[in-house]
Formats: sequence, structure tokens, C-alpha cells
Amino acid sequence: MSDSLQELSERLKLYTDRQALLLQITRRIAQGGSLGAMLPDITNATLRGSHADGIRIVLDTTVVPLTYASGPLAGQMLKFDKLVARHVAAHGETELASTATADGELDELKGAFGALLALPLNAQNTRLGVLWVAFEQPHEFTPEEHTFLSIVAGQTAVAIANAYAYDTARRGREQLAAILSSSADPVLVIDEDEAVLVLNPAAERAFGVSAAHAMGQPVGRVINAPPLVELLKNGTANTEGIEWQNEAGHTFAPRLSDVVDEDNNRTGRVLMLRDITRYKNLRDNQSEFVSTVSHDLRSPLTYMQGYATMLPMVGPLNEKQQGFADKIISGIAQMTDLVDKILDAGRLDPEGNYQLNRETCDVTKIVTDIVAAHAQPAEKKNLALITNVDPALPILNLDDVMLRRALNNLVDNAIKYTPDGGTITVSASLRDNDLVLSVKDTGLGISEENQKHLFERFRRVRRREHQTVKGSGLGLFIVKSVAQRHGGDAWIESKEGEGSTFNISIPLEGANLLGADARKPQ
Ligand code: ADP
Repeated sequence: MSDSLQELSERLKLYTDRQALLLQITRRIAQGGSLGAMLPDITNATLRGSHADGIRIVLDTTVVPLTYASGPLAGQMLKFDKLVARHVAAHGETELASTATADGELDELKGAFGALLALPLNAQNTRLGVLWVAFEQPHEFTPEEHTFLSIVAGQTAVAIANAYAYDTARRGREQLAAILSSSADPVLVIDEDEAVLVLNPAAERAFGVSAAHAMGQPVGRVINAPPLVELLKNGTANTEGIEWQNEAGHTFAPRLSDVVDEDNNRTGRVLMLRDITRYKNLRDNQSEFVSTVSHDLRSPLTYMQGYATMLPMVGPLNEKQQGFADKIISGIAQMTDLVDKILDAGRLDPEGNYQLNRETCDVTKIVTDIVAAHAQPAEKKNLALITNVDPALPILNLDDVMLRRALNNLVDNAIKYTPDGGTITVSASLRDNDLVLSVKDTGLGISEENQKHLFERFRRVRRREHQTVKGSGLGLFIVKSVAQRHGGDAWIESKEGEGSTFNISIPLEGANLLGADARKPQ
């Protein structure tokens, strides 16, 4: 009776010792730190809890296996690390109460020591390595020993997986920090509450604020750049055309993207700025140069045209001479058209400060003048040029010169791109609250794909039928810019092979001279 009491009390002590050791191991894991500091503590505690003579933790690493060991038998166990790890990887937990019974691939273990128990270290379906203990003498592993070692192996695996994840995240953070601090482009990151999370050194310089001061603060409070703060708050993906100049005179173009979590929820925003100061200066110089040259070309072209037209007046020209003079005049007209378009496009540049010159404007007269000016070229190509103007058009307050240029470009194009014998209809009407000018042709039409960017600067559609047609790709850009400057728009309706209609709409609101319903007397 007293023997069994003695046994019971020993088992109870063993049980409480193991519980205490498990608690110690759990605490050690919770304390964290590197694997190099944590695993020796775990092997020591496990050795004590298992009463084994040696314990080894063998981690699968790409280069050489990383091992942690404890106990007098650990040195002798070393040469079997690979064998045991391979066996556990293939067959799972491996227990040998006596190595004398070892056979097959474990045959080598015979006589090396008495008993072993090897457990896989797995976390989140990933094999991380093996934990194994050995006894000098044969040993029957009790269920309690099993449970103890299984719990230790489970916790150790989680600790290793966490350490790996932490290490990967730390390395990622360090790399990101290195990239951000060496980047010449300012980078600003905010969280979902619009508080500053990251401000790299380039951004500190651009905004004139230190990261230490800005971190964690609402972006609107620490960053003095209203358009950029607005952008960060609203998250407009299209930042095209937005520029910001800082106090030091540097101009930046922003790019914005969302930070999203695994479930695609937005957790913040990243603003990257590109310093475009040099590019902008270059661009300004270039456009200034182009407009100066174009401007200076204008007057020699005018008198060249004058003299060329006057040639027949100073003496009769024979047929050949007249033919040459006509060619010169048409070349000069082309150059004049190009120079005018360059000047117009320069004026209407979105970054330019062209102010509309609104004045009393008779749209009917504009249409008839432009149609009249194109009568000759239309006749040359045997094109019918039809005018269709709503007689109730009011007198409006518009930029007469620019509107003429826009309509002129559309009629020019219709004549250029419509094959001989076609019809061109120029209309002006009121639609809802807009003035709508349309130029319809019976030409080749434009595919949907090519329509997309048609109104952009220098955009030309290449097609065999138009190979000989000269152009700059500026005409439609001017048309759209003129419409937009008036608060309206320009668009095309066309189907390949079925002709095109180019439209300009201008809201009457803002263009009305005599009130919304004012009409010309009929
Ligand atoms: P361009 O000086 O080349 O005519 P535009 O900007 O006026 O420049 O026109 C751009 C392109 O649109 C032209 O190159 C041409 O391919 C196409 N285009 C313009 N008008 C017409 C039209 N009426 N019919 C067919 N294609 C046209």
C-alpha cells in the first residue's frame, strides 16, 4: 500500500514538474527573441522534462541543417540527425523503445544508444524540422512522456514559424526602408485614418517637414500642399496633368495608389512624387522657342504669299510659270496653316493661360464665311458642300476667332479626307441648352479604336487611302480645346466606311448675350 502511495506521489511529482516545465517553455516562447536565444532554453527544459539523455532539434534549412542540442548523449546523436530527419519526413513520428529492433533504413541505429522518440516539427502544413530525444538504455515511452514531448514539439514549431515570419517581415521592412531612404522621389504613405505612416527623406525635403514631426499626424495638418492632400483624401487614380510646386520652386507630378490588405480592403494610400522641374523648364523653353519661331515665320509667309499672288500682275505668265506659281502659293498656304495651328495649339495648351476673348458673335455668319472659304477646294474635289443653319440661332458671346479656327479645321478635314464626289454638310443648331456645330461627311469613317485618342495632340490615323494627305495632327486638338475653353466639348460619331460627323457643343449658359431665350428676329 505504502509502495503504491509512494509510486503515486512520484508520478504526481513528475506530472507537476512537467507541467511547470511546459509553462516555462510557453513563457520562454512568448518572450520571443531570436531562435539562437530561444531554442537552447527549450532544449534544456525539454531534456529535464523528458529525463532523456540527449535531445536534438534539427531545422530544415536550405544550406546546412541548423541544430540545437542538449544532454550527454547529444554529441553521439549528431551523426544520425540526417537519417532521423529523413525518416520522420517520410513516415512521421518515429519511436524505438529499443534500437536493437531497428531495421531497414534505421538499421544503422542499432547499438548506438538504447531508445529514441523523434517528432516532426510542422506548422501551417510546412515541415520545419525534427525534434528527437534518445535514452542510453532501452526505454518504454509512457503516454505522459509522449504527450509532454508532443506539446513541446507543437509549441516549438509555432515558435520557429513565427520567428521565420518575423524575420521575413523584418528583412522586407529593412529593404523597403533602404529603398525609400535612397529614393530620390518623395514618398508619402498614409493609413486609412489619413495619418502619416511613412515620409522618406526626399519627401521631408520636398515638404519641408521632418518625418519625426509628421509621423502619426493627420496629413492635412502637417503637409502644406493642398492639392496633394486633397488627392490623398479623395484618392483620384487619374493624376494626369496635376502638378505641384513647392516653396523651393521644384515642380512635382504626383502618382497615387492604394495600400490594400489580403481581402482587398484599402488600408491606406501611397503618394509618390516625381520631380519634373527640369523637364518642365525644358518644355517651357521649347514651347516658347516653337511659338517664337512660328510667330516670326508668319510675316515672311504673308509677304511671300502676297508676291506670289501678284506675279501675274507684273507681266503675263506662260502656262508653266503659272503652274509653278500655283504650286508655290499652295505650299505657302500649307506652311501658313501649319504655323497657325502650332500657334493655336500653343495658346490652347492646358498649361497655358489663354483667356477666351468672348465677344458678340454671329454663328450663322461664321458658318457661311467658312463654307464660302472652302467652296473652291470643295469644287476641286467635286464635293457638295451643304450648309444647314437653324435660322433661330441667337447672337452669342463667344471667342469668334477661335470658333472660326475650330470650325475651319473640321471643314478642312472633311474636304481633305472625303473622297471625290462626296457630300459635306455643315450644320449649326440648338440642342437642349447647347449650341451644336456639326460637320458631316461621306468619307471613309474612323474605327472605334482610332476614335479613342483622335482629339489628342499630334494624333493622326494612318491609312493607305490618306497617305498623300498632309497634316500635323493638331487640328482636332485645337477643336476640342476651343470647345472645352467655352465650357463645352467636341466628339465624333463615325463608323468605319460610313462617313463621320464631328461635333462641337457649347453651353448657352455663359454664352448668352441677351438672356436664355433671345433669338434673332426672324
Ligand atoms: P491632321 O492635321 O492630321 O488632319 P487632325 O487633328 O485635324 O490632324 O486630325 C487627326 C486625324 O484624324 C487625321 O490625321 C485623320 O486621320 C483623322 N480625321 C480627321 N478628320 C477626319 C475625317 N473627316 N474623316 C476621316 N478621318 C479624319
